[in-house]
Amino acid sequence: MSPALDVRDVRRAYGRVQALNGASLTLEAGRITCLLGPSGCGKSTLLRLIAGLEPVDGGEIRKAGVVVSGPGVHLPAEKRGIGLVFQDYALFPHLSGLGNAGFGLHGLPPAERKRQAADALARAHIDQRAEAYPGQLSGGERQRVALARALAPAPSVLLLDEPFSGLDGVLRAQVRDAALETLRESGAAVLIVTHDAEEAMRMGDQLALMQAGAILQTGTPEDCYLRPTSLDAARLLGPANALPARIENGMAVTAFGAVPAGTGGDTVIARPEAIVLADDGVEAEVTARRFVGSQTELTLLADNQRAAARLPSLTAPQVGTRIRVRLDPALCTVVTG
Ligand code: ADP
Ligand code: MG
Repeated sequence: MSPALDVRDVRRAYGRVQALNGASLTLEAGRITCLLGPSGCGKSTLLRLIAGLEPVDGGEIRKAGVVVSGPGVHLPAEKRGIGLVFQDYALFPHLSGLGNAGFGLHGLPPAERKRQAADALARAHIDQRAEAYPGQLSGGERQRVALARALAPAPSVLLLDEPFSGLDGVLRAQVRDAALETLRESGAAVLIVTHDAEEAMRMGDQLALMQAGAILQTGTPEDCYLRPTSLDAARLLGPANALPARIENGMAVTAFGAVPAGTGGDTVIARPEAIVLADDGVEAEVTARRFVGSQTELTLLADNQRAAARLPSLTAPQVGTRIRVRLDPALCTVVTG
């Protein structure tokens, strides 16, 4: 069966800015994919192209196997059955919650349209504010109305552009958890844009790591975190050391220890927590230390190499201490850097 959405090698330029440079991505029904990447890497552009708000310069987008964007093909946005929640929600200020939720429901008798809009508001847990106008709603409530509006026509593909960026702290977590439940119930293929790595890993069944107009890696959060395919991909999900390595007897040997070399390479990507204390390990000196709660961040020096480590605060050594460490292979990947 064809995937709900298949994006192949899509390109888009604005003047001399190549916003998308061969981006490829697959979305499946009932699966939540988080698109993670730094500001300006092309996330919003990719969403606009999928939604059909702009044509592609090259490549192809298929929905359930049917080409909707491609050379000489551009199915208009309103005919795609793809929902889009904009970053600023873009609610109509002169329409109530109910009016906003019913906006995309064309060609229905008024009573049926109202029923479906009310149903969408209920699914987004905002039916109690159906009569309120956007100006009377809090940020979290506006977010729910925007979600209801996108869900009302029952799209098979739903795109959300940084849907929680206007919210913070406890509210953000609450709105996010509620939205996630609503999105799961919809059964749609969902793509959520975020530039927050932890949020992406929390929400996504699947991650798509993006940089400079292309998707670097896709996979489960665990796969992407533990088995990055490049240093750039690794760093999108958190700090990572790039340790120069030489291959000896099937091992990649670094200043902080050795790990199985696998298919080989010249660099070991090691998460800070990959560096662990070991009596029989290599010697390293603690040159800096920062307490950040349950964990303490350390800078270690071994054989003229520096590396960032993270140890449980209760066991973290002081600056100037000489310790012995090894690398946990489960948190390391050998690449050609
Ligand atoms: P993101 O959402 O990841 O922050 P965008 O997709 O908004 O990134 O932008 C990607 C690149 O394309 C940026 O360099 C941005 O300045 C440029 N860009 C996006 N939209 C336009 C536009 N309409 N006109 C000119 N440049 C644009
Ligand atoms: Mg954006």
